[in-house]
Parts: sequence; C-alpha cells; structure tokens
Amino acid sequence: MQNFSEKYNYQRYLELGGIINEKDYTSALTRSKDSATFNESTTKQAENIAKFAGIELHNTEDAIDEKIILYGILHDIKPKETLDSDWRLFREVLRMLEDTDSLSKLKIACHTNRRPGTYCPLCGQIEFSEDCP
Ligand SMILES: [Zn+2]
Repeated sequence: MQNFSEKYNYQRYLELGGIINEKDYTSALTRSKDSATFNESTTKQAENIAKFAGIELHNTEDAIDEKIILYGILHDIKPKETLDSDWRLFREVLRMLEDTDSLSKLKIACHTNRRPGTYCPLCGQIEFSEDCP
C-alpha cells in the first residue's frame, strides 16, 4: 500500500473546498497506508456513486482503487462535517485525492444535471441558480 499521507496535504485539500477537520483527514490518510481491509458494502456504494457520475475506477487484481479504499475508511470514521451523507463522503474522497476532474464530474451529475424539483445530494439545494459549494 502506498503512503497516502506523504503525497497529499491538508492545505491543498482545504483549497479544493474540503470540509473535514484536520484530525479526521490525517487519520484517514494514515489508515489508508496500513490497512488493505475494505468491506463489500462500502465498496459497492463507492462504485455506484462513481458509476452514476461517470467516474472511472481502476481496480487491478492486487490493488483496489484509491477512491474505494479512502471511501471505506471515511465511512468508518464518519466525519461529522459530511452529515452521514454517502455523496458528501465520496466528494471529500475526491478532494483528498486532489482529483479535480472527477470532482467536477460528480458536481455535474449531482447538481447541474439533476431533475428539476429535486435536491442536490451534495449541497442540499433545490435551486439551479445556486453554485454547488
Ligand atoms: Zn449541489
């Protein structure tokens, strides 16, 4: 498992709009380097969200996609800032991995392209005029 905590930093995460507190952020990255454990239900959730947003996951025989690993860890930690929302958890995963490309895909799928009258699962707004923070 590669060392996530050397590759990413909290300052850049905040610049991308990250909302999780530094303690949980650091704890998630630290756990990602030594635990290869993941569970099937959070993997399925992450895969479904990625599929919905058209985000590619790269799983190989001996390596699981970073997004799935971090999503599982964050799901365990349950940062209070994400209000227990799977969508918000996944968004924070993308911010932590500094994956701006996937981040904009997620916002487009959830916010811009949602059906009129429905709430955006990321920001909770019903209006289209509002930006998705
Ligand atoms: Zn939104």
